[in-house]
Formats: sequence, structure tokens, C-alpha cells
Amino acid sequence: MFGLKKMTFKGGAHPPEGKEFTEHKPIEIMPSPQQVIIPVQQHIGAPSQVLVQKGDTVKIGDKICEANGFVSLPVHASISGKVTKIGEFQHPLGMKTQAIVIENDGVDTLSDSIQPNENYLNLSPDEMKNRIREAGISGMGGASFPTHVKLSPPKDKPIDTLILNGAECEPYLTADHRLMLEYPDDILKGLQIFQKILNIKRAYIAIENNKPDAIKLVRKKASAYEGISVVGLNVKYPQGAEKQLIYAITKRQVPTGGLPMDVGCLVQNVGTARAVYQAVAENIPLYQRVATITGAGVNETKNILVRIGTLFKDVIEFCGGYKENVSKLIMGGPMMGIAQYTDEVPVIKGTSGILVLDQAATKRNEPLPCISCGRCVDTCPMGLMPTTLAELVDFEHYDQAVILGLMDCIECGTCTFICPSRRNLLQSIRFGKFKVIRQRRKAS
Ligand code: SF4
Ligand code: SF4
Repeated sequence: MFGLKKMTFKGGAHPPEGKEFTEHKPIEIMPSPQQVIIPVQQHIGAPSQVLVQKGDTVKIGDKICEANGFVSLPVHASISGKVTKIGEFQHPLGMKTQAIVIENDGVDTLSDSIQPNENYLNLSPDEMKNRIREAGISGMGGASFPTHVKLSPPKDKPIDTLILNGAECEPYLTADHRLMLEYPDDILKGLQIFQKILNIKRAYIAIENNKPDAIKLVRKKASAYEGISVVGLNVKYPQGAEKQLIYAITKRQVPTGGLPMDVGCLVQNVGTARAVYQAVAENIPLYQRVATITGAGVNETKNILVRIGTLFKDVIEFCGGYKENVSKLIMGGPMMGIAQYTDEVPVIKGTSGILVLDQAATKRNEPLPCISCGRCVDTCPMGLMPTTLAELVDFEHYDQAVILGLMDCIECGTCTFICPSRRNLLQSIRFGKFKVIRQRRKAS
């Protein structure tokens, strides 16, 4: 049905997978921590509005922030207890932002609003989308875009192809792999909800061929549903990036500056599908998630179910603490992850993993001048010229960088990984994108 050799895209690389640390480890439930610090802003879009005050008591799943507009999301309490502070705290995305501190009462009381709804498939598409929004669900692959917005394409952009992304191409991360092995039914029911909302009969579940157990199990389970195909993808980074995934499966190319809906496609992550099922069928908001805690710098690597707002340091302690010679802490994987300067930052909805690297893994000599080998150009999955873009940004020629596709960079890090001169091209390009977005915001 699907020729395996065709299930990929141009460019890309093969970084060491590092998945052996955790791929066979079942998801462990981390007990609720003594305290959570829940950032008000965890999604792309308008910041949410705080609903609680210091001294309020809350239950798990209670709404503590309200969405502020269509492209916004509510936030929910992840433990039961008392709100002890609302203030500025370090955010894992790198800035200080408003957050709500809750002290645990040790009782783990669930909100009264969490009630199963056996007839959820009879809900209308709008009712389903409203539940997804009310549950505060954003893309759980790391993008953190509000899911209900993605499920509301304009009328002139009809969607005919739905792709559930189980590629998990980022090295070291295995949370999605474990979800597919342990909760395939929830994922398929979530996909069924997506199909109903968008009125799409055909859907694909895309999984890299380095997860044969997940492909086998999900394919077997999917045979009970109509119109769902499980597709094995070549193992290549960044196979799970939206545009690369769409090309691999449909051979449609998302235009420069465009979105998947421009070519009739919609991509959702497998973790998002499970969260959507829980929201629509059980009224469970997104107050916890599965994350991979891994790397040579942590004593016990694990896949864990962790409450949003749990500090990284508490997560690491649950995993047996740090080993000696720790040199780097990253939220996410080594290619697209975000380096942290402190472990006093909270798990957020987009935390797919925490990677702790030791000195051996991060040993990287000083960058050398570019030798014009062209390898970064050959491997860029977006067909960009990373070395030229980085130079233009370094010299603050942002307009020219934009003309050459700066904003099309998907920040996959392949260019940095492949560069023999060890140039951190991604860092320059990311900074350039940040400057351009800021300039545009100021001008609007
Ligand atoms: S320029 Fe951007 S898209 Fe291209 S390889 Fe580098 S990080 Fe990836
Ligand atoms: S891979 Fe590195 S050395 Fe080669 S052209 Fe790109 S920036 Fe220059």
C-alpha cells in the first residue's frame, strides 16, 4: 500500500537516537508534588486572565485562568490545595511570566466538573470543540497552538486529509511511543473525534519505523475503525515536522509562509488526540501530561505522567537525582529543545521531555569559520541556506534574511548538527526570527 522508501522528505539528518534509555519503560505516575507553579501563559495566543486570588482553595481540574479571546486557552489547577502566591516566575521558554502557586493539601480532590459523558459521540462538532477549548488543550508535540483553533479552518480552506503524528523523530524522547503502546484506544477515539469535527472519512497515523511495536499494535487496533491507515515512515530527522510529514504522506508541499490547511491537511499529535478524547468523553482538562525524563546526567531515566506546574527539580528528584558531571538541562530533545539555566522552572503543557546531558555529551569545541562545504544547505529540510541566513542575522540584515526565507525555518537544528565547523546556525536564525516578530508586533 505505502512504499516505505517514499515515506520521507528531502534533506534531514540521522542524529544518534538515544531512545534506548526509555523506549521500553512504561509510563510511571509521579505523585503530586508539594507545590506547583502554573504559568498563566502556556500556549501560542492571547494571555489568559487569572480567575483566582491568594488564599483561594482549588480542586484538581478547577479553572484558574480564563481564555482571553478565540486564540487563547484556560488554565486549570493540577493539584488540590490553596493558592499561596500569584507573581512573576521563571518560565521554561526563557522569560519571567505571571504564574500561580498552589500548595498541596495532600488530598488530591478532583473538580466536580470532571464527569464522564458516555454519549460524547452524539455531541455536535461545535460542542466538541467547545469542550476541547474549555479543557485548555494545546498541541502537545511542543508547538502549543490552541487545538480548537486548529480544528476551525476557514470555509475556503477545506481539509480532506487528517494526519495523526506519532513520528516522534526528536532524539531521546519516547513519551509518544509509550502513549501509543499503553493508550492506543484513547488515541484512536481522539482521532475519531477529530474526524467527526472536520467531517473527514480518511485519516492517517504516521509512525517512524523505529517503533515497530507501536506500528503493529496501533494498526491492529485501527482495523476496528473505518478509514484509518497506519503509515510507517523512514527514520530521518525531522520526519515529524508538519510540512515534512505532509509531504512524506501526500506529496503535497505547504507553500512558503503557508499552513497545512493551504494544502487541505491537518496534523495533530498523538498525545493531543488522547487529551482530546479525555476532554470530550470525560470532561478532564489538561492538568497533567506524559514526558520523557532522560539523558546520561540523570540517575533513573523514565517516562512519567506529571502534573503541570511541577518544578523540574522535583521531577529530577523523582528520577533519582542528578549524576555527577551534569552540564546541560534541556526542555525537550537535543535538536529542538530549549536549554534551561535553572531547574526551578515548571513543567508546562508543551513539555514533552526533560533531557539532562553530562559533560561528555556536550563536549563541543569552539566554532570555526565556515568552510563553505554546503552541508547545511544540502540537509536543510526547508531548502534554505542556513549559513547565509545566520550571517545576515549576525550583521542585522533582517529584511534580506526574510526575503531568503528566514521565517520559513522550522528551527529543527539539522544545520547546526551537521556543520563540521560546529557553527551554531540555529541560535543565530532563532534570534533573527525573534527580532523580526518583535519588529512586526511593534509596527502593527
Ligand atoms: S535553517 Fe532552520 S529549517 Fe533549515 S536546517 Fe537549520 S534549523 Fe532546520
Ligand atoms: S555546514 Fe557549516 S561549514 Fe559547511 S557551509 Fe554550512 S555553515 Fe559553512
